[in-house]
Amino acid sequence: MKDTFITEKVRKVSIGDFKYISSLFHHPGQASKEPCFICKLPWSTHGEKASLVGKFEFHESGKLRTLDDLQGEAMIDVEPASLALPTLHSICGIAKTYVIDPLIAHSIQFDTKCQVFKNS
Ligand SMILES: [Zn+2]
Repeated sequence: MKDTFITEKVRKVSIGDFKYISSLFHHPGQASKEPCFICKLPWSTHGEKASLVGKFEFHESGKLRTLDDLQGEAMIDVEPASLALPTLHSICGIAKTYVIDPLIAHSIQFDTKCQVFKNS
């Protein structure tokens, strides 16, 4: 049997949870001032100035990160803009923040008669 070689262009895409992707590119993580590992848009995920779904400017993005911008060597030769977002991780985070945590707080409030949330 004669060997056959086929040459194809491929596009590498990396996917994983946020911690894995951040590790690949030496990104400081989602609690940093620029939590997105694809762009440099500054926003906060916590505290009084936390960006919330109702207020976040989803149409804005920051300057894209590149391999050349990195502090140190990336563990993979894929541009950050080519990363696939971890959809399951994202959905779990949204469900925890907007469904599970409020239900737990409501349950605590119901059981203890303690005011956890302000009435609005
Ligand atoms: Zn971004």
